[in-house]
Amino acid sequence: MLLMCVALSSLLLSQEPVLPAVKHNFTTVTSYDEMWSFLQSLDNRSDLLTVNIIGQSVNGKNLYGLMFSSSRFGNDKSKIRVLIFAQQHGNEQSGKEGALLLASELIKPENRYLFDKIDLALVPQVNPDGSTFNQRRNAHTMDLNRNHLILTEPETRALHALFDEYLFEVTMDVHEYSPYSDSWETYGYRKDFDVTIGSTTNPIVSGKIRELSDNQYLPYIFSYLMERGFSSFVYCPGGPPGVSYIRHSTFDINDGRQSLGIQNTFSFIQEGMNGTDSFLENLQHRAEGQMTGMQGLLEYVYLNGDRIKTMVASERKELISAAAGQKVSIQSEHMPNGQKLSLPLVNYRTGKDTMVIVEDYRPVVRSTHDVTRPVGYLIPRESAELIGWVQRQSLITHPFKAKKNQKIEQYGITSIDSIDFEGDIIVNPEVEVKEMKEGISSSDYLFIPVSQLKCNLIILALEPKSMLGLVTYPQYARLLMKGENYPVLRIVPK
Ligand SMILES: [Zn+2]
Repeated sequence: MLLMCVALSSLLLSQEPVLPAVKHNFTTVTSYDEMWSFLQSLDNRSDLLTVNIIGQSVNGKNLYGLMFSSSRFGNDKSKIRVLIFAQQHGNEQSGKEGALLLASELIKPENRYLFDKIDLALVPQVNPDGSTFNQRRNAHTMDLNRNHLILTEPETRALHALFDEYLFEVTMDVHEYSPYSDSWETYGYRKDFDVTIGSTTNPIVSGKIRELSDNQYLPYIFSYLMERGFSSFVYCPGGPPGVSYIRHSTFDINDGRQSLGIQNTFSFIQEGMNGTDSFLENLQHRAEGQMTGMQGLLEYVYLNGDRIKTMVASERKELISAAAGQKVSIQSEHMPNGQKLSLPLVNYRTGKDTMVIVEDYRPVVRSTHDVTRPVGYLIPRESAELIGWVQRQSLITHPFKAKKNQKIEQYGITSIDSIDFEGDIIVNPEVEVKEMKEGISSSDYLFIPVSQLKCNLIILALEPKSMLGLVTYPQYARLLMKGENYPVLRIVPK
């Protein structure tokens, strides 16, 4: 009997775990329960992999973090830490399937070399509740990829807690894009790339990191994908040409790419093409395209790990130690750079390829309003919504002690205008800066120094004129009242 058990278990071990979607020949997606069994079988099979529960969804489903390391995850400081996460949008199934395909590839002996240099955390499904109903949003009907600044949702909080624990040097957020819409159909042509990839665009992300991303990584990954049979292009929403300009995505910091990029991380978004009317259409090719993009990122990081690691470390150090008074952009706009975009498209009806020259192409983001970097901010302790935000972002805080060489500034809101932000109209207050002459009671305030990794995120969140600030969210709109003082104070050098 014992012999039979041993024989049976070695038989089981010798069988490679097969992804449920593969077993079903991609006629259905991998369900939450099937995913868990699959992850257990991978975990049992490989000494590289530990499956952790990194949090829970609104409905209590586990969020899994697949921690790949040849030693103890995060312990070997010479290794570069990579975080890849997929399916924040529950109806974008190919990211999750691609991540699970990747996991089964990574435990194969021929891929073990990657972990000589890399510790990888792979989160295949950030939004299991949305996935169950194949819907974009989570069970609170919140778009998780617009929630990375306010962090009201358990799914985004779990992801950021994981990031904060290991401070990954490289991150990638995996999505799908839809090339099908009424406006593109009217235009007559649409995009047809298997995979599109975008880097960080906010102008306050380190210029060195953005340059490496755009000039080295993007050309590398495009040819990597092409050699393996997948078409790709830079992630460029907007359009159709003649109707609206084409840009390199948003510079907002509330998404998975930019909220981590703003901490001077080598950070990307990858979007596979979704199906026309069914999320199952062409699912195998789509999942394999997503997996190949993720493999390409790992290969690039393996080849360039030392350079990226050194750059990220020095750019983060500079970010933390920057002097008060430095300019920080809080309003920006998409600008042309004199180049026209050659955009390969297909005819909506015939499916024939064509090349369109886009005249109104705005690949550059330029600052239109700066503030000076303060020493820190004072948050009124009585403001539950602000204190809650500080806690959710795990910011470093101190009790406040007034210093002789510093002064306190307060914003008065003189009027509330509006401003166009990528087609949306948002608040744009007119403010006057006043020095507070009377002392404040230290115990009424919490001090947030900006000398921390999230400094630019803090400035962008708390400045009242920030296009990306908390005041642009309904939950925080009442912080801005015409004729009143803005409740968050600035500490600046005298
Ligand atoms: Zn998405």
